[in-house]
Amino acid sequence: MINDTLQRPFRDLRISVTDRCNFRCSYCMPAEIYGERYEFLSRKDLLTFEEITRLTSIFTGLGAGKVRITGGEPLVRNEIELLIKSLSEINEITDLTLTTNAYLLPQKANTLKKAGLQRVTISLDSLEDSIFKQMNGRSFGIERVLQGIKAAECAGLTPIKINCVVQKGVNDHTLVDLARFFKNSGHIVRFIEYMDVGNRNGWELDQVVPAEEIISMINASMPLDQIPNSYPGEVASRYIYRDGSGEIGVIASVTKPFCGDCTRLRLSPEGVIYTCLFAS
Ligand code: SAM
Ligand code: SF4
Repeated sequence: MINDTLQRPFRDLRISVTDRCNFRCSYCMPAEIYGERYEFLSRKDLLTFEEITRLTSIFTGLGAGKVRITGGEPLVRNEIELLIKSLSEINEITDLTLTTNAYLLPQKANTLKKAGLQRVTISLDSLEDSIFKQMNGRSFGIERVLQGIKAAECAGLTPIKINCVVQKGVNDHTLVDLARFFKNSGHIVRFIEYMDVGNRNGWELDQVVPAEEIISMINASMPLDQIPNSYPGEVASRYIYRDGSGEIGVIASVTKPFCGDCTRLRLSPEGVIYTCLFAS
């Protein structure tokens, strides 16, 4: 087991398998910057699946039980299921998950489940097509994401979490509808405060809708009760609907940073390790 220099134990490993993505979400990879001429890593610079697996077994030996595959968009990496398969053979992993925009999930969900993936988190910022199209920067409609969610459900990649990044004046007026849509579905919607990731998205504090405001908007039409975290270091604050129809979460990375409890280590596609999204 290892702790970092701030004595925080290391429990979660996030593996970014590619820096590429089929979306251009304005808050993450704005199209103006990640255009035709943007130089992504070349294939030879990426860690191979063998290297990722070897590193993961070393990290699990040092305390990581939870492993999340992410990106960029992890499903654009060729034959990602082969990596999932070899990671699923590491006994120390208690939770093997993947975060995706779901665009390729309709055709991949079964294969991923068979390879040993336990569950997925799916990003969906709005159910309003025009807003979703604008936010993903590629004019992709929501239909395909909803099909991806269905496919994940049918494949048993559950419980499913739905991530929604909230930007003031962009999608905040559609949050209550999103919450209502997934109420009673067994899926957990998590509203994420818009963060400054790498100074490339033109982040401004006044574009952030505080988690407290998000909760009060939803609570006004669908009453909520806060419940305790399920494990130390959980980043989302959890709420259940008073009528027993499900759970939602808010991730207040800006208004209530949880750095003191963070237990994450990140592995970049080219094999750099770092603890914090904001690390240089
Ligand atoms: N491409 C996959 C996806 O979108 O689900 C995985 C990678 S994405 C970087 C992981 C998560 O980070 C997504 O849920 C995304 O919405 C969230 N995210 C990206 N940029 C963000 C920002 N500026 N603030 C808050 N969350 C952000
Ligand atoms: Fe791609 Fe995910 Fe970033 Fe959107 S949030 S641009 S889907 S990596």
